[in-house]
Amino acid sequence: MPQYLVELAHTEADCARALETIRTYGLHILNYTWFGCMAGVHTSWATFEAEDEPHARFALPPPMRAQARVVEVQKFTPDRIQQILGFHKG
Ligand SMILES: [Zn+2]
Repeated sequence: MPQYLVELAHTEADCARALETIRTYGLHILNYTWFGCMAGVHTSWATFEAEDEPHARFALPPPMRAQARVVEVQKFTPDRIQQILGFHKG
C-alpha cells in the first residue's frame, strides 16, 4: 500500500483549538504523528499507509481534511537514486 506523509499546519494562536480537534477526531492517527509545537513550529507530520490520496485525507479530522498537505512518499535505495539521476541527465 502507498505511504503518505500528511502535513497539518496551524498558527500559534490556533494551537489549542487545533490540538483539541486532533484529540477529538484524530486519536487513531496520533500514534503516527509528530508535532513541532513545542519547538515553536506549529505543524504536525504523520506518515501512514492508505489506499490512495483521498483515503489518506479521509483519515484526518474532518475540519482539517481540506487544508492538509497529503503527499505520497517513497523510500529510495542508492540504486533507485542512481536511476533517477540517470533520468535527469537525459
Ligand atoms: Zn501548535
